[in-house]
Amino acid sequence: MTTKSQITIHQPPLSQLCLWRSRIIYTSAQKESIMQNKPNFPRFCAKNSYLEEKQTQFKPIQTHFQPKYAQNKPNQTQFKTTPAQLFRNFNLLIIAKNWLSYLQMKKILADRTDKIDSSGIRKVFALAASMKEPINLSIGQPDFDVPQQLKDEAIKAIQEGQNKYSQTAGNSLLKEKIAERIISEFSWEKPAILVSNGVSGGLMLAFLALINPGDEVIIPDPYFVIYKHIINMLGGKCVFVDSYPEFALPVEKIAEAISEKTKLVIVNSPCNPTGVVYSQESVKALAEIAAEKDVVVMSDEIYEKFSYDGNCPSIANYYEKTILLRGFGKAYAMTGWRLGYVAVGESLKDVVEEMTKIQQYTFVCAPTPFQQAAVAALDYDVGELVNAYRKKRDLVYEGLKDKFEVVKPGGAFYLFVKSPGKGRGSEFVEKAIANNVLIIPGNVFSEKDTHFRISYAAGDEKLKRGIEILRQLAE
Ligand code: PMP
Repeated sequence: MTTKSQITIHQPPLSQLCLWRSRIIYTSAQKESIMQNKPNFPRFCAKNSYLEEKQTQFKPIQTHFQPKYAQNKPNQTQFKTTPAQLFRNFNLLIIAKNWLSYLQMKKILADRTDKIDSSGIRKVFALAASMKEPINLSIGQPDFDVPQQLKDEAIKAIQEGQNKYSQTAGNSLLKEKIAERIISEFSWEKPAILVSNGVSGGLMLAFLALINPGDEVIIPDPYFVIYKHIINMLGGKCVFVDSYPEFALPVEKIAEAISEKTKLVIVNSPCNPTGVVYSQESVKALAEIAAEKDVVVMSDEIYEKFSYDGNCPSIANYYEKTILLRGFGKAYAMTGWRLGYVAVGESLKDVVEEMTKIQQYTFVCAPTPFQQAAVAALDYDVGELVNAYRKKRDLVYEGLKDKFEVVKPGGAFYLFVKSPGKGRGSEFVEKAIANNVLIIPGNVFSEKDTHFRISYAAGDEKLKRGIEILRQLAE
C-alpha cells in the first residue's frame, strides 16, 4: 500500500477513523460525497466531524487529505497523502482515545443508528443559535404566533383539569370533528382517525406498521427528510424518483418504479422543500396507476392550508387506499404542541388499528389539553394569514427570479432554488452562511446537491435583506 511518495490507508477502520478524527475537517459537500460512495462509513465519525464544522461556522475549510475511491473495491475508501503530511497530522494519544471511545459507543449503540445522520436542518437550526442576529431563512414554521383564541382554549383545558392521558387514538370530540371533515371532503363513508404527535408521529407509526425489511417505498426527489431516515432505519428501501427541474409529480417515473416489492408511494403536496402544489391531473393520473397496481399511497398534506393559487388537490379524492396525514402545527403556528392526525377510508382501517396499537406502546397519546384546543382550531379561519404568506411568496420569488433558476411555488413556505452556475448547493449555502444568511443545502432533501431551500416564514424586512445578500452572492 506504500509508494514512494504516497501512503494509501484502507478501511477497516482504525487508520481511517484516526484520520477522520485527528483534525481532518471536511466540507459538508465532501462528507456527503463520502457518505454516498461509502454508505458503511462510520456515521459516528461523521457526527463528530460535524462538531468541528459547527465551530468553524461553515467557513471554507482546509482539507489535508483527499479521499479517493477504489473503483474495483467498493468497500474500501482510500486516502492518499505524503508521509510528511501523515505524520504532521497524527497525534497518537488522540487517536487511541478516539478509537477507544468509538469502540465503546459501538457497544452501547444499536446498529440502526448507523443508518441515520443528524438532520441537516437541525444543524443549521443549532448554528443559528450561535450566530449574532442571523437572517434566518431556514425555519420550517410560521413566523406568527398561535392565535389568541386557540391559546385561550388550551389554557382553559389545562385549568379545567384535562391533563391526564386521553384515549390512545385521541379525544373523541376531536376525532368526530375530523371524521366529519373527511367525510364531507372525500365522501369516505366511515373514516378511521388517529390523533398523532405531530405529523412526524403519524409518519413514524405508519412506517412501523407497514414497512418490512426489504420493502420498497417510492418517493419523489426532492423529499421531506424524515421519510428517508425512518425507512432506512426500519430496513426498508427508498426508491427515489427524480422530479427535477420542475418538481411536478413525476407520474410516469413512479409508474415505472413500481415493482413487486413496492409497499408505498409517498406524495407530499404542497411539497417541502419545493413548495410545488401537484396539479389535479397529475394527482388523478397517479391515483389511476396506484389503483391499477394496487399500491397504497401515503399523502402528507401538512401544508394543505398554505395553497396560494386555489385549493391543493388531494389524491384522497380519487383513491381510497390513501393514508392521509395532516397537521395542526404549521397552519396555526403550534409546531411545539405536537399535533397531527391520520385518516383512512374503510379499506385501510386495519392500518390505523395497528398504528393505534403501536401508539399505545410508544407515544401513548397526543398532548391532551392541546387536543381540546385543536377542536376549536378546526373552525378557525386562517385565510388572512395565508394571504400574508402569499405576499411573502411573491416578494421572494420576484426578488430572486432574474438571478436564480427557481420554480414559482404554489404552496407551503419554501422556494427550492438552483445554485448559480455549476456550483454545488452546499457550497453556495456555505457562502450564504458566511454572509449571515441561513438557508438549507438541497442535499438535505435530495440525492442531488444542486439547490438550496429558502423558507420565507420570516418578517418582510429580513426577507428583503436576505434577498439582497443572495443576489449579491449570485453575481
Ligand atoms: N411532513 C412535512 C412535509 C413537513 O415539512 C413536516 C415538518 N417540517 C412534517 C411532516 C412534520 O410535522 P410535525 O411538526 O407536525 O411533526
